[in-house]
Amino acid sequence: MPSSPLRARTGSRLAAWAVLAAGALAIPVGCETVRPAGPAEPHDTAGRPDVVHRASDPGTPPTPPGRHAIRRGNYVFYHDFELDKSDPLFAELEALPDQVLGELGLPPTTGIVQVFLFDTRDRYNQYLKSSPLFRGLPPRRAYFITEKRAGGDELKVFTWMGDHLRTDLRHELTHALLHSVLKDVPIWLDEGLAGYFELPPEQDGVNPQHLELIRRGPFQPNLARLERLKDVAEMQQPEYREAWAWVHLMLRSSPAAKRVLLDYLQVMRTTDKPGPLAPRLREALPELDEALFDYLTRLELPRVRPAGARY
Ligand SMILES: [Zn+2]
Repeated sequence: MPSSPLRARTGSRLAAWAVLAAGALAIPVGCETVRPAGPAEPHDTAGRPDVVHRASDPGTPPTPPGRHAIRRGNYVFYHDFELDKSDPLFAELEALPDQVLGELGLPPTTGIVQVFLFDTRDRYNQYLKSSPLFRGLPPRRAYFITEKRAGGDELKVFTWMGDHLRTDLRHELTHALLHSVLKDVPIWLDEGLAGYFELPPEQDGVNPQHLELIRRGPFQPNLARLERLKDVAEMQQPEYREAWAWVHLMLRSSPAAKRVLLDYLQVMRTTDKPGPLAPRLREALPELDEALFDYLTRLELPRVRPAGARY
């Protein structure tokens, strides 16, 4: 779908797609999870910074953007500057729930995601520094936060109008959509799925940068190990790549492998302790690691668009 990043009428035009056109995808947003009961801890900058669960009433936060609000589909975009409401990125993001939940066999969500858009990185960073919601968390381009409320969790995305806006919004909104219909999502799978759907639909989930680095090696996949990761600091860039690779394998290699993932996600609709996935996947792909190697060897890079092409 042709699209462009949201543009501020004030003139700070964004051009993320040249990066994609060059075949070098943006560095994925890292993530971390801070569970509701525990205090937020600072994490390694290569950790998992963008999924945060907060208990309600963490303090009195400063006011995020809210002078203007645009409701589109499952989202309300809050901003203090003028936005081009006709920007095709709105339509693309509006289609994301159907794409994510439809492909994963999950029910439509009625959850509303509040998206707070800052016009500059400075204003965004200032807000993060002063808001109790982000106390102890490292600066990141974007965050997804669930806030516990009596009437149900509030889903919030915070980011700024940077060059990676499209990827970051797709990534964070994928987290939000998953968390709106599932009890919980294991850290590796949460990131693997967000890494898959952050890519524009025409990429078919193929991240050329991940693929290149994996093929360059060394690459030693170990799904059981990945599933044991609980500490956010353990989730480093190699783990992001491996998580993306397993998700791509399951979604694109065979109907049986996809069925395993879809069934696993159904389990997570009713429990936050789904158990390990690897034994289930092994029933479809007995030699897991070999299947992944073989699949990644055969996987084709997405079409490279001419330099300067708009996505
Ligand atoms: Zn993430």
